[in-house]
Amino acid sequence: MAQIDDLPPLRDVIAAHGLNARKALGQNFLLDLNLTMRIARSAGDLSNTTVLEIGPGPGGLTRALLAAGAKRVVAIEKDPRCLPALSEVSEHYPGRLDVLNADALTFDPSGLNGEGPIKIVANLPYNVGTQLLINWITTENWPPFWSSLTLLFQKEVAERIIAGPGTKAYGRLALLAGWRCTSGKLFDIGPKAFTPPPKVTSTLIQLTPNPSPLPCNLKALETVTATAFGQRRKMLRASLKGLSADTDQLLADAGIEGTARAETLDIGAFVGLANAFSRRRNA
Ligand code: SAM
Repeated sequence: MAQIDDLPPLRDVIAAHGLNARKALGQNFLLDLNLTMRIARSAGDLSNTTVLEIGPGPGGLTRALLAAGAKRVVAIEKDPRCLPALSEVSEHYPGRLDVLNADALTFDPSGLNGEGPIKIVANLPYNVGTQLLINWITTENWPPFWSSLTLLFQKEVAERIIAGPGTKAYGRLALLAGWRCTSGKLFDIGPKAFTPPPKVTSTLIQLTPNPSPLPCNLKALETVTATAFGQRRKMLRASLKGLSADTDQLLADAGIEGTARAETLDIGAFVGLANAFSRRRNA
């Protein structure tokens, strides 16, 4: 594949700026710009879009997003050592890249939604990736400030996000994601593609917001799923005991058999359970 830009190879960038990877920051860098280009293209047409990237590091994915035509990229990087390398990318793409030295966990991206929903694309640091996803899918306003999430996770975490009922990976994360989003796997990336290589395979997934998720109170949904999956092998009439003095009636209100188990219930059933739980609480 052709070179994606005239900037130096990422290995040289890392050497020039002394960017030895730090485990505490989840730094596993992608140095193959053809691969980062494949990720960037998976996010679709970026020409009219502001893209939010979390953790640009030495800039491999950032460069691909810009080369793929992103109108503007806002990149949030916690490690100040990466800033000089990212400045070189900004100079190469004048006016199209803003780098903020910040912690993505405390940065509020909803204000970036100036000219329409943004796309979020990231090779996420493994230690904060799940929390960031939860923040984005539990945002108060819906439809949210983003139109798609194209995210690289450890394979096992990706499976827990996109899992359907009846599978081992199905649980709280799949419920939350499936309630508000449609999600799917794009492709796997083996450990050798990263520097340093992690122990496990990674998976690129994509989530798009459902315009009208089933009406449900988020806190109630979180409470019932946490309780039900806290003891996932038990029948619901046992695992939900802590939720209500009359678990059998709660389940009957939601039209769910007491002998069912959490992992067999689909999202509609959990929403029904959360709504029955809310009604009893407010009664
Ligand atoms: N995007 C680069 C790539 O694909 O090669 C680097 C990805 S690396 C897996 C994760 C990046 O996230 C690192 O650059 C790390 O410094 C950064 N990072 C870690 N924790 C962060 C946080 N809380 N907020 C923002 N960036 C963070």
